[in-house]
Amino acid sequence: MPTLVSHPDEVKVVSRRFGMGATDIDKYVELDGYKAVQEAIAKGPEWIINEMKASGLRGRGGAGFPTGMKWSFVPKQSEKPKYVLVNGDESEPGTCKDHVLFLHDPHAVIEGTMIAGLAIGSKLGFIYLRGEYRYLLKIVEKAVADAYAKGFLGKNIFGTGVDFDVITQTGAGAYEVGEESALMESLEGKRGVPRIKPPFPAVVGLYGGPTVINNAETIANAPHILLMGGEAYAKLGSERNGGTRLFGISGHVERPGVYELPMGYSLRKAIYDVAGGIKDGKKLKAVVPGGSSCPVMLPEEIDVGLDFDQMGKAGTMLGSGGIVVLDETVSIVEFALRTIAFYQHESCGWCIPCREGTDWIKKTLTRVYNGGGNKKDVDNVQYLAENMLGRTFCPLGDAAAMPTIAFVKKFRKEFEDYIAGNKAGTPIITVEQLVGAH
Ligand code: SF4
Repeated sequence: MPTLVSHPDEVKVVSRRFGMGATDIDKYVELDGYKAVQEAIAKGPEWIINEMKASGLRGRGGAGFPTGMKWSFVPKQSEKPKYVLVNGDESEPGTCKDHVLFLHDPHAVIEGTMIAGLAIGSKLGFIYLRGEYRYLLKIVEKAVADAYAKGFLGKNIFGTGVDFDVITQTGAGAYEVGEESALMESLEGKRGVPRIKPPFPAVVGLYGGPTVINNAETIANAPHILLMGGEAYAKLGSERNGGTRLFGISGHVERPGVYELPMGYSLRKAIYDVAGGIKDGKKLKAVVPGGSSCPVMLPEEIDVGLDFDQMGKAGTMLGSGGIVVLDETVSIVEFALRTIAFYQHESCGWCIPCREGTDWIKKTLTRVYNGGGNKKDVDNVQYLAENMLGRTFCPLGDAAAMPTIAFVKKFRKEFEDYIAGNKAGTPIITVEQLVGAH
């Protein structure tokens, strides 16, 4: 089990049971587990949704949509069954927080799933883990089995007459399935490609029934919010960004790890205080602030609060909370190539701007990286990425285009110098080789 990190500036809500043995159901119960769901059963859907709205909780997967509002969109009456779908398909490079959550507190995800089910009138929830997290499946499945054994799941839960079931499922290793409609396709046993929207999942979702889809961290916050009260949770964060969130800080920092910080916490402090600053006293070169799809930031841009609105104003995104710190030794030409190679490999190939755009950017950057670039290549890469932006069927196209544009705009001189020097980088392992090796 990876070593847990901690820092005095952390405000532990969703991580408060990490490292306390809460995978054991009795320990989880001792630490206030399964209390919130019983209160939710007693007080009903309207109370749950009002508390969630008051909390200001916004989706922790990256989109930042208000959770209480999302739950309220599900129609009260439905001829088809309603579902809760927990998105544990954490695949964004640089992101590793849901992994730690499942590892240390799987019951919080189960309890949150039940609360979401009660809020929308569903009797069945699915917890979908990414294929590469298969080793976590045992932990989650044991937690589900223990909850059934205690009568917390199944028929007549807690003796209240309410029924609720949870099913676990793993993916087959596709990044694209992190997109909610592709996730539903995959869960239904089909190829994981996105659906046309509208209709939106809240109305026509899994198996055609109304469905709430939330990231695992979002869902795991629900029990804590109900226990502490929505308003108290909201006050922990910043304006319009309630609460705290898990940030995975990785790369060239002294103390990498997953930290829970208040929404709006300074990005500079997260890097220099919480994560201990740049490793071995080197200089900071760049920060990818929220997973690989977020536009890169320069050292002079990091005096910004880590919430959805402030990061948006700064021209980037809060994303999935994966802060990747790059020191002065990193070649941005190589980093940009590695980033686009990932998206090219993961593109489902359905729409042309994404399929062809990622491929051509990768080919061009590979040639540049191998020492065969010419002056026009930088413009061509920018042109290709800008023409992908907003023109693809699902967000993967934008996720590939946005970081590429930022790399080229903010580090143009480095690309031009690299080309002028006719420099060839050291051979890198391609995504295909990596995949082949597994
Ligand atoms: Fe597929 Fe890319 Fe189009 Fe999304 S944007 S549907 S991943 S080809």
